[in-house]
Amino acid sequence: MLKINLEKLKFLRSIKIRIFLIVFIIGFIPSTIARYAILKNYEQRAVDLRTSDVQTQLKILANHLIAYRYLQDTSSEVIDAELNMLSNLYDGRVLIINNNLKVVKDTYGISEGKTIISEEVIRCLKGVNTSNYDSTNNFIEMTIPIMESLEVDTSEMQPMEPNLASGVMLTSVSTDYIATTMEILNRKAIVVEVLVILIVFIISMLASYVIIRPFEKITEALNQVKEGYTNDPISVSDCLETEHIGDAFNQVLSRMKVLDDSRQEFVSNVSHELKTPITSMKVLADSLRGQEDVPIELYREFMEDIADEIDREDKIINDLLALIKMDRTSSDLNIAQVDINVLVELIMKRLRPIALKKNIELVYESVRPVSAEIDEVKITLVISNLVENAIKYNKEFGWVKVTLDADHQFFTVEVADSGIGIPEESIEHIYERFYRVDKSHSREIDGTGLGLAITRSAILMHRGSIKVVSEEGEGTTFTVKIPLTYIAVS
Ligand code: ADP
Repeated sequence: MLKINLEKLKFLRSIKIRIFLIVFIIGFIPSTIARYAILKNYEQRAVDLRTSDVQTQLKILANHLIAYRYLQDTSSEVIDAELNMLSNLYDGRVLIINNNLKVVKDTYGISEGKTIISEEVIRCLKGVNTSNYDSTNNFIEMTIPIMESLEVDTSEMQPMEPNLASGVMLTSVSTDYIATTMEILNRKAIVVEVLVILIVFIISMLASYVIIRPFEKITEALNQVKEGYTNDPISVSDCLETEHIGDAFNQVLSRMKVLDDSRQEFVSNVSHELKTPITSMKVLADSLRGQEDVPIELYREFMEDIADEIDREDKIINDLLALIKMDRTSSDLNIAQVDINVLVELIMKRLRPIALKKNIELVYESVRPVSAEIDEVKITLVISNLVENAIKYNKEFGWVKVTLDADHQFFTVEVADSGIGIPEESIEHIYERFYRVDKSHSREIDGTGLGLAITRSAILMHRGSIKVVSEEGEGTTFTVKIPLTYIAVS
């Protein structure tokens, strides 16, 4: 049920409808309130005027009643005429009541001789004027005391000396004309109100159109890009907000373009790198096929070369797979508390035979015991890559020194070597995929150019950093800094 209602109210999510409704309500409510307030004000004023008019007349009449001793003797024709004139003039009824609460005169002739016990009359006998407006039945009922002194305080609700009045005039006058005037006024006001609503309606339609138009333009422009009609930056400078949206989108667009370019470059690099061993194998195979009576030694030699190329191809594919894994989000990290000293020692143990083969001394120094929250496989890959490189790009009888240290926040692994060093202009490129300092020279040294790219990605996933200092012909030092506690990206 609620779901259905929400579905129905879905149109309220449109800014256009919201603006329209807001402007409409802002215009509609005040005009309705104004109509109501004006009518009420008019009614109040008309009733006040009529009350004070009638009261003045009644007061004059009260004087005459005293003068003609009408309360004692109701036979005065002058007073009767005056009473009739008054009741005709105000379309009302006048009752004259003496201080025994007996009606001595009723212009309608109905209640004469009867006793009236009403709160207003009793209060009025004590000298208080009363006046009540009955808006439902359209009349004002008021009481005026008939005083011997004739000095009646006209202010309402003000008590006089008790038992001062010798009688009361109870009058009800019709307010039909007020109701009729209000009816006419109301009709006119409704016409004005409908006009105002119409104008507000048109203004709200225009306002919502004018405000929304730039956003519609932005959507159109975005759709053009989405459909692939254009790759140009979008620009809707109709208002600041759309300009900001446009700027943000253009930034996203150029970022996507950079990503797309680098993806294309990556694909072409991958194809090239994967093709190289295949081309070599083809050349080797073709040269064997092209010769007759090839000696078995040559076959063996060429087959060994082909096997080497297959190994190379295998290494490239493995590195590529590792790199792709690194490109995933940090949620793929398998974080655990790991003893870093043990981890580095294991790596050193595994790489020592390779170092020995090249007569390179492998030294490990641990300044303090370190335990950290890391992905063991990935950090092993990081340190292995760096130490392997330090061995690979070293000189005969050189050395590689690995130092582990930590402070209260990070642990650092420093891999220093006495190797060939990296030329200054190459340092900024070494982390790029497939980058190798000197391709022809590097060719002698086994490698894919992916190792440092993988290393850097793994470090960044741990929110760490990598730095390198190198001197050509002297050696290179890589320093890796990783937080002891893993901070997940929210
Ligand atoms: P590769 O598979 O070629 O070793 P890497 O990404 O690991 O690829 O390294 C990129 C390049 O950086 C290497 O080809 C090499 O020229 C250079 N390099 C990396 N480590 C060292 C080092 N310790 N000493 C000298 N050069 C290095």
